[in-house]
Amino acid sequence: MKANIKDLNLTDLKIALEDLGEKPYRAEQIFKWIFVENVTSFDDMTNISKELREKLKEKFDFHNFNILQKQISKDGTKKYLFDTLDGNAIESVLMEYKYGKTICVSSQIGCKMGCKFCASTGIKFARNLTPGEIVEQLLNIQRDENIKISNLVFMGIGEPLDNFDNVMKAIEILNNQKGINMGARHISISTSGLVPKIYELADKNIQCTLSISLHSADNKKRSQMMPVNDTYNIEELIKACKYYIEKTNRRISFEYALAKENNDNLEDAKALVKLLKGMLCHVNLIPINKIEGGKFNKSTNENIIKFRDYLNDHGIVATIRRELGSDIDAACGQLRKKEVEKC
Ligand code: SAH
Repeated sequence: MKANIKDLNLTDLKIALEDLGEKPYRAEQIFKWIFVENVTSFDDMTNISKELREKLKEKFDFHNFNILQKQISKDGTKKYLFDTLDGNAIESVLMEYKYGKTICVSSQIGCKMGCKFCASTGIKFARNLTPGEIVEQLLNIQRDENIKISNLVFMGIGEPLDNFDNVMKAIEILNNQKGINMGARHISISTSGLVPKIYELADKNIQCTLSISLHSADNKKRSQMMPVNDTYNIEELIKACKYYIEKTNRRISFEYALAKENNDNLEDAKALVKLLKGMLCHVNLIPINKIEGGKFNKSTNENIIKFRDYLNDHGIVATIRRELGSDIDAACGQLRKKEVEKC
């Protein structure tokens, strides 16, 4: 396969053009065609000579994903199943909020983390997505819907910090003002808690929002939900989060999926307050979505509200995440490739 042109940031593109004996300013024109005009072939680049287009075609390809399936939820959320052109498939979700359109992207094909409540765990890990493949999810939906997406969250299939370099490069491409021009503050990275990578991210100081999938303030319970806790426990995780806050001055968002009679009682809320007290953070409570064959059930609405109120009354800002797309399995943890088997 030829190299994916979307894997190149502007600097790479300038080097590639120099290698072809071209002037570097051509790189900006081409970059704009790809990421602003969102064209799908070199022949669409009308201000680029035929000769250069042919040279580019010899080396590069567009790797445009095919849409295998598109589902639309009653609430307007749209889920895409993309063919990644190598026999695999990934999912991306488009959500509408008051403040704009948000895409939830996948970062890997499958996931290694093994969280017990997450549907992505059922997908065998195949490989990391490349920067171009991460960005293509946004470009593809923008083309399909003829829209501009304003926010991006790494909350689809995969663990973004386990694909660190490609995710960083994708963010760099998304940020570029000559291209998509999406500010880092419009991007959220969600992690199950890969502690060394949180330090690495903090040192990059890129101003994106960091979301931590916490789900319990108790090591025993958290390990039962998330095997990663056996490698990096809650104390190490919180220490890394404090470092992130200190370095970036950014508020961390802790995600907490409430499962009935598991992590949703008063004791759990008390432990969470004790753990997070004084930190620059916010807690996002997610009514857990039951997955096929999973042992965790959704908390009652009453418990969810009680849990939130307890946190708010004790100095921790907490909100309940609106559930979007649950009728099309697009809600948190429901992304998986079962459709592929049907196709
Ligand atoms: N691997 C990353 C990003 C993908 S998961 C992470 O772990 O953060 C995105 C968010 O959805 C995480 O907070 C995750 O814990 C949550 N999630 C996964 N399965 C869920 C489920 N069944 N119900 C509710 N939230 C879930």
